[in-house]
Amino acid sequence: MHFNELNLSQEIITAVEELGFLEMTDIQKESIPLLMQGADVVGRSNTGTGKTAAFGIPAVESITEADRKSVAVLILCPTRELAMQACEEIRKFAKYKRIVKTTAIYGGASMERQIMELKRGANIVIGTPGRVMDHIRRRTLKLDKLRTVILDEADEMLNMGFREDIEAILSEIPEERQTVLFSATMPPEILAITEKYQREPVHIKIKSAQKTVESVKQFYFMVAMGRKTDALKLLLKAYSLEAVMVFCNTKKMVDELTEELVKSGIHAAGLHGDMKQIQRTQVMNSFKSKAITVLVATDVAARGIDVSGIDAVFNYDIPQDNEYYIHRIGRTGRAGHDGTAYTLITNRRQQYELKDIAKYVKADITELPLPEKADIIALKKDELVKNIAQMPSVQENCSDILDKLASMGIDYREIALRLINERLQKEIAGLPEFDMPKPLKKGKKSGAKTVKIDINIGRNKRIAPNFILGALVDATGMSGQDFGKIDIFDNHTTVEIPEDETDYILESTNSLKINGNKVEIKLYKGNSVSEKKSRKTEKQFKPDRRKSAYGNRKKADVFNDYIPNRRKRIKKRH
Ligand code: ADP
Ligand code: MG
Repeated sequence: MHFNELNLSQEIITAVEELGFLEMTDIQKESIPLLMQGADVVGRSNTGTGKTAAFGIPAVESITEADRKSVAVLILCPTRELAMQACEEIRKFAKYKRIVKTTAIYGGASMERQIMELKRGANIVIGTPGRVMDHIRRRTLKLDKLRTVILDEADEMLNMGFREDIEAILSEIPEERQTVLFSATMPPEILAITEKYQREPVHIKIKSAQKTVESVKQFYFMVAMGRKTDALKLLLKAYSLEAVMVFCNTKKMVDELTEELVKSGIHAAGLHGDMKQIQRTQVMNSFKSKAITVLVATDVAARGIDVSGIDAVFNYDIPQDNEYYIHRIGRTGRAGHDGTAYTLITNRRQQYELKDIAKYVKADITELPLPEKADIIALKKDELVKNIAQMPSVQENCSDILDKLASMGIDYREIALRLINERLQKEIAGLPEFDMPKPLKKGKKSGAKTVKIDINIGRNKRIAPNFILGALVDATGMSGQDFGKIDIFDNHTTVEIPEDETDYILESTNSLKINGNKVEIKLYKGNSVSEKKSRKTEKQFKPDRRKSAYGNRKKADVFNDYIPNRRKRIKKRH
């Protein structure tokens, strides 16, 4: 069904045609006519299905000469980016309808400017709940003439703790109004809002994400613990991707990963809720303009962000929610283009979680082996061949250099080789190694010969066995069971390891950090008598006794035992 089959004004049809929209999406087909009749609607449909137009087009259509000086439509969005994005898109629908004035109001930006724009007679206002409430309180946003309120991504707004603000706003506006709600999921809290604030709402549910997800090829990689960042760098290099989104579960991880990627010369930037608005806008603009190729983001910050032409999505962390997975991979493969989604997982448990996700999205998520360095070099060589073959031929201007070099006895072939090699080295510089010998045997054979390694960090740095073991497992990809007794002394720690893994362990831990401290690890040579004696007082820790060490207590409590400060803080609070 085409947009011109609806009863839309010519101004809007022209604008929509200019945007290249041909067919309406399902959610648009169902909701636009209802919204134009003034019905209360609850719309459920997945990300990337054109919900902004579904409510934006009727909103623009509804504005008349009478709305010149008052707000007629209020749209609430969970984040500043979404508010800005919705505002931009709605402005495009209103391109030929002069009386429509849209403005976006959100936190982290100048209040004065927003007040000015509101005063200039905005009739469609798009905002985040907190800032909208602010303006209502200051009486800089008057909603007494409001006809329609739209909650976009309602579930996410509730997740973000906007419930009170939303309810306050809904109680503030005229009762005679149209209330519209769009949400990807329908938890009880949403139903409660629906029942309380909507009148005989029509429920529209567009079936499942499959349509959006179908165009996305989905893969996963098994990566040794602690090597996800390296794996990601390798993959970014291997696939020569130009626009990539990487998802992490926490803001901290976004910051850390971004820093790591930037250090390796990748044009990456992070996006999360703790960043100032101006930074976030800058990041989004650089990503859109391709100055930044890798956008590292949290789920909330990236929710609904619509950038076209994203080649691939990486789940650096496995998403905490199946719906998040759909939202994440929906960033690629938009509007009929193909996209690819990769998930990095480090253990069996995550493999099961991913199986669950695959079932939920009804798609195959296939395991791929990490490319080896040699594969990448071969790939880069192929690319170089193509690149050089495509270069325009050079007539003059540098031939004098060539002649000079030749007169120095360096022949043409040698010159060419040197230059080509330089380019190749640039391409493959800093590629992480994944072809290190992996430990051969799994699990500690009883009776196998053991030796000890010595780590130059101990009680002085408030180190606990858990930290040591975790870091070793992370760095080596071996299992906790492979390591033996851990003895912590004042300023060093010894760990029992299987003798035949010594070289591997020393090699893979050579730039190890434990609890933020860079450490040095050596083979342990002999224990002094005094140490032996004092060892009775050490906390002794055997990984295979971990379970009983925790007993019925939560793991976090056990960790707290080793962090005096945190313990104190917790005590104080109670
Ligand atoms: P959602 O809010 O459901 O995640 P958006 O409203 O952000 O989706 O729309 C996703 C993309 O699809 C946008 O780039 C939008 O311009 C485009 N789009 C929306 N409707 C259509 C349509 N009928 N035809 C083509 N593209 C569309
Ligand atoms: Mg949206």
